[in-house]
Amino acid sequence: MKSELVERLLPGLTHDREYYEKLYPERNLGEKAIVTRYAPSPTGFVHIGNIFQLYISSKMARQTGGIVFLRIEDTDQERMVENGISKIIRDVESFGLTFDEGAISETEEKGAYGPYIQSHRKEIYQTYAKDLLLKGLAYPDFTTKEELEKLRKEQETSKRRIGYYGKWARSRFLTEEEIEEKLDAGLPYIIRLKSTGDFNRKVVVEDAIRGKLEFPEDDIDQVLIKNDGLPTYHFAHAIDDHLMHTTHVIRGDEWVSSLPVHIGLHNALGFTPPIYCHIPPLNKKDGNSIRKLSKRKDPEMAVSYYHEMGIPVTAVMLYLATVSNSNFEEWYLSHPKEDISHFEMSFDKIGTSGALFDMEKLLNLSRNYLSQISATEMYENTLEWAKKYNEKFASLLTKNKDMALQFFNIEREVEKPRKDYAMYSEVYDGMWYMFNDEFNPKEYEWQKITDKEEIETILKTYMESFYDENDNEEDWFNKVKDCCDALGYASNMKEYKQNPENFKGNVADVSTVLRVAFTSKSRTPNLYDIMKILGKDEIERRIELVFKS
Ligand code: GLU
Repeated sequence: MKSELVERLLPGLTHDREYYEKLYPERNLGEKAIVTRYAPSPTGFVHIGNIFQLYISSKMARQTGGIVFLRIEDTDQERMVENGISKIIRDVESFGLTFDEGAISETEEKGAYGPYIQSHRKEIYQTYAKDLLLKGLAYPDFTTKEELEKLRKEQETSKRRIGYYGKWARSRFLTEEEIEEKLDAGLPYIIRLKSTGDFNRKVVVEDAIRGKLEFPEDDIDQVLIKNDGLPTYHFAHAIDDHLMHTTHVIRGDEWVSSLPVHIGLHNALGFTPPIYCHIPPLNKKDGNSIRKLSKRKDPEMAVSYYHEMGIPVTAVMLYLATVSNSNFEEWYLSHPKEDISHFEMSFDKIGTSGALFDMEKLLNLSRNYLSQISATEMYENTLEWAKKYNEKFASLLTKNKDMALQFFNIEREVEKPRKDYAMYSEVYDGMWYMFNDEFNPKEYEWQKITDKEEIETILKTYMESFYDENDNEEDWFNKVKDCCDALGYASNMKEYKQNPENFKGNVADVSTVLRVAFTSKSRTPNLYDIMKILGKDEIERRIELVFKS
């Protein structure tokens, strides 16, 4: 097409294609370096599948001395949300993931390959479209919506493949004079690719995760520039990945079906396509069937869920690592103390059928993780969570810091630590009875011994003759046993099992009475430690509460 006409179609461009090719030179990175990107629309919404994808992307990039950048794909202006970019960054960072380059807020960015927000790159896309127009590989299309609809109906009735291609792509055949006339008449237009694809030929793509993929070539005259002058996502992303020197496009496999379009565009533009890596979705068991995790049905799809529930980020990332690579679990078992960033990830160990996202498994990992951190960490993390999601609990933790630290330390840092919590939101329920101000139970979880008088007798006898707050654990337990002997309960389980009829019960029953009296709960961490923390005065107050109940 002659340049005057191209100028009319895309006016006011100051540079040519060569200018941009020079402006964004090859990156100076090692041969194996993976350059990849996270390319969301600025909807502000990040889900756990995005975190999974980005974890894989950043891991592969960092592991190879490469780059992962954030590109904002806002060519569909309708999907924009106020502060969408900042929200995305905040959510991503909340899982410890970061970008080397790209947008850092609605208005700022870092890196030498920007702008990283597509709407700021209009000139670049138009320049490449202009180049295609000049080469006769693109054309303006004035077809109205109604005409397109008519075309679709015609194709339907004649049982043809639907779409704007080949002889159906009527604007392909407009002469330059006809185009000028339409421009003179002020008719709106878009720019389309003049596809050289042949639907009867195959395009073969070697996906780094899914292996060899084969499709018919794309022969649709794809829209490059829309009527508002902005590019379509397909056109923009091909140019961006080329100019930003993306080596690997790592993205969700809902994009597999767009591959022929993307390959077609790279070819038309004379680019070498990047390596595609399509990540399978996170699935979920739903009754007897398995389906994709869904934004609509599954609360665990939203990243806010993990923060609100207080599921530690470390555990979530550990779980995502487990589902990402089939050999991760084995590695982790043999390197339990190592930072997971030392694990060598590979594309060929990513399953292709979709990973099963099993919340129970995640929570088990989390329980394990929380049992292994120090009491101080447990305290600080719980407090940080509570400050955001449970203010009352936060102030209790702050006021009772020493107590909380001692409590969290019970049966921690031992060979088999207690595994009480999978999430910070469970901690209050597991420790409320330790806060003296909170302890005024309406219910006691009495077990075998429920008779009020008997309970009172046990408590009185124990307190009067056997309780000494200075006892060590061994003496303390011996005295509980002595108390049993004094009241007709078996202090020796073996003897009890031989002749249960000789006893009112056994030492476990008596200990349970003490435990329930002091905490209202039948299951707690080590009773001796709890009693030590509570101290004599509080223990006496709690016994009074039992008497009054
Ligand atoms: N903007 C696309 C999305 O919202 C990006 C797809 C890609 O990574 O190429 O998912």
